[in-house]
Amino acid sequence: MHEFSIAEALAAQVALYAPAGGRVLEVEIRVGALRGLEPEAMRMCWDAVTYQTPLAGSNLLMDARPWSLACPACGREWESPVPFVDCECGEQSPNPTADDELLLVAISTEDDVPAGTAASTEAPR
Ligand SMILES: [Zn+2]
Repeated sequence: MHEFSIAEALAAQVALYAPAGGRVLEVEIRVGALRGLEPEAMRMCWDAVTYQTPLAGSNLLMDARPWSLACPACGREWESPVPFVDCECGEQSPNPTADDELLLVAISTEDDVPAGTAASTEAPR
């Protein structure tokens, strides 16, 4: 279950960016479909990893990004939560592509400290 190690890494990152003194209520992440993360499994791992830490009880919000599909037959492009769907024109499972991004989008805290916003790739300091 790779969700667990991802939850661990995420908790470490949140601990780094959470405003001092404010209890973290919610952590929002954005996950590309290529990651194959289950939101339910991810939440369970988050609860396990944050148990008895300052992040305990915080809610993990996971924004699962869809697959992008492009039909080679009719040129239609659209997004789907599942990779293999037929096009309206009858073409089967046209070219699914997706991102493998995993971004820490926002951290919400109890006392309205301005929410920490950080991207895993370009975090402030
Ligand atoms: Zn088509």
